[in-house]
Amino acid sequence: MSGLLRLQELYQRIKPGSNNILIEMVRRVENSREAIQFLQTLESIDRYGRKFVVLDCSASLASEIIIQHVKDVHLGRRNYHYLLSGLVMDDRWDERVKEYGAINITGFRIIDTERPTVQQFFRTWEALDPAIYPGAGKPFIPAQAALVYDAVTLVADTFNRMLKKKPDTFRSYLQRNKGDSLANASRALNCSRNAVWEQGDRIAKFARKQSDLEGLTGSLRFGEDGRRENFTLSVVEMTVNSDIVKIGQWSEQTRFQMVPAKYVRLPATPEFEKNRTYIVTTYMEEPYMMMRKTEGGEEFTGNDQFEGYCKDMMDLIAAKLGINYELRKVKDHRYGNENPNVTGGWDGIIGELIRRETEVALGAITITSARERVVDFSAPFMELGISIMIKKPMKQKPGFLSFMSPLATEVWAAVGAIFLAVSLVLFSVHRWSKSGWRTIRRSTSVKQYVNDFTLGNSLWFTLGSLLRAGNVTVPRSISGRMVGAVWWFFTLILISSYTANLAAFLTVERMVTPINSAEDLARQTQVEYGTLNSGTTLDFFKNSKFAVYSRMWEFMNSRKHVFVRTYDEGIRRVRQSKGKYALLIESPKNDYVNERYPCDTMKVGRNFDTKGFGVATPLGSPLREQINLAVLSLKESDDLARLTNKWWYDRGECANADKQETTQNELSLSNVAGIFYILIGGLVLALAVAFFEFLYWSRVDAKKNKISLTEAMKAKARISITGEFTHLHHNSTVS
Ligand code: GLU
Repeated sequence: MSGLLRLQELYQRIKPGSNNILIEMVRRVENSREAIQFLQTLESIDRYGRKFVVLDCSASLASEIIIQHVKDVHLGRRNYHYLLSGLVMDDRWDERVKEYGAINITGFRIIDTERPTVQQFFRTWEALDPAIYPGAGKPFIPAQAALVYDAVTLVADTFNRMLKKKPDTFRSYLQRNKGDSLANASRALNCSRNAVWEQGDRIAKFARKQSDLEGLTGSLRFGEDGRRENFTLSVVEMTVNSDIVKIGQWSEQTRFQMVPAKYVRLPATPEFEKNRTYIVTTYMEEPYMMMRKTEGGEEFTGNDQFEGYCKDMMDLIAAKLGINYELRKVKDHRYGNENPNVTGGWDGIIGELIRRETEVALGAITITSARERVVDFSAPFMELGISIMIKKPMKQKPGFLSFMSPLATEVWAAVGAIFLAVSLVLFSVHRWSKSGWRTIRRSTSVKQYVNDFTLGNSLWFTLGSLLRAGNVTVPRSISGRMVGAVWWFFTLILISSYTANLAAFLTVERMVTPINSAEDLARQTQVEYGTLNSGTTLDFFKNSKFAVYSRMWEFMNSRKHVFVRTYDEGIRRVRQSKGKYALLIESPKNDYVNERYPCDTMKVGRNFDTKGFGVATPLGSPLREQINLAVLSLKESDDLARLTNKWWYDRGECANADKQETTQNELSLSNVAGIFYILIGGLVLALAVAFFEFLYWSRVDAKKNKISLTEAMKAKARISITGEFTHLHHNSTVS
């Protein structure tokens, strides 16, 4: 009944609908079960919205409801905020509420433990024997008791003051009942139901008039209408993992005022047991956790069967905490996703934690807000992000014809064509122009006109200029010189451009990656890409509001075959799909695989997001705080960095391949072999031609001088070597 009155008051005060306040539902509950059922209905309607619950009930029922709530895995915790009406925050709370400490609670308190009156009361109260005074011995008193205490104080004080002012106040009354024995004096105060004591009004008036009486609940002052005046209510809050703290206060004069809250972290949850063996569930994934290879038929048992980054880390944590542990593989081989068909609502490692089948979860478990609602995570032991893995494209090593590459094939063809054209033009202009000809006097009577620019000479000249050689024969006609000038200009630019480009082409081993970023992937459909078919990466794309990622999600979602069951399957697919499949994979695994034989994968682009892997424990686990501290100190002491080196890079199988690539900066013979081949080929050809020429002219000489071929050759060779003419000298040889 009084609850309904308070509800009515609440409605009148806050006028639902105005000031953004909307009262969604009001329920009368008898016990915590009903309350939880009600909350579950609420949860099924709106899962993630923030919910404010006003509880108007006793402290014991409120704490029962809250404990039930925290235990219920189907109910969210961080999006609930309880407001407790009445003064139940002063009452004794079930310690478990604080212990779980995972829910926000706001309420009021009237006893301010910092006031001297209260502290003095507690000193006396603590000294009393609880056997005689139930509840004594501890600095604690519930609000109701405090109010009763204050009422008694007030009555006593009022009588005192009345008697002090007029010692015979009650005498007249007592006199009326003269003759009664002292034993009957109690009749002076007739407490039967309808009796009205004529002194009552006066006493009440006196009680209201007092001005400076301090009680446990503040100053005991009353207004004309008998309502308390000038008292202060503290507004206190209990947030996730913090003790009850004052966040504001209300008094009639000042109204509501916030005060800076001093949050205190709750003391660590109940002590964990040292030397006990804890169950640690893990997910098998290279290089975090792997089965150890047996060496020489040796069989490993227990934790020794495992090895990997997480195994080493757990050894360090266990040593720090002084505990033992037993590693087990997760039963369904999953990290954990929400799954309504499983008890607890989650499958995988997360499900095992929720169902308390294990005490610690270890592996590459990504910390997410959804998971953090149902289990506790340590600080991240490794940072990561989603990244792209592709197959390494084939390197294009500079071939022996790489000196051709600075110019495109069509440029080479064009240069060839223009070379012929220029030669022809030069040849013809020189013939037509008078100055192109010069006279040679063979004898006094015979004059001969010659033109230096025969077809052959023209080609020779053009080639000479193109190859930046000096020219002996130069055109003498104006038109010829013009042709020469423009050609020189052309070759100057062409050769300079060629030279500038050449170095780059000869030195750089080009690796043309078709995909370099998420944008590249989203833009095309030729290279397919996918993620694990369940996991945090998939959720990232599913929930992303960013245009590029949601486009990628649409692509993947419309081609279900791009999803893979495990990373290993995905990596195999990347390797076998000849560059037509890219895997979206968490960066540490990407880095790891790229260091492994056959070294044919690579990571491209930046990470899409940043998150971390954490060690998970069930909510409220006594190990949680200690594991967290251990992870942080391992991180600070470089132990984790050392482990990363050990499992990622020291065991790398691709180091050599990489080194060769990076040192190849200068031109190697293979880079320039092409021109050598051509030069050598040219020389050999020239030698051969010279040899045939030698043979030919020796033959001519032999015929002319009627000597044998061998003799002619000998004579010729002598001339070639010594440069001297002998008796065999003939004009014909020098013509
Ligand atoms: N490490 C992730 C997890 O904890 C799975 C990997 C992924 O979704 O790409 O679920």
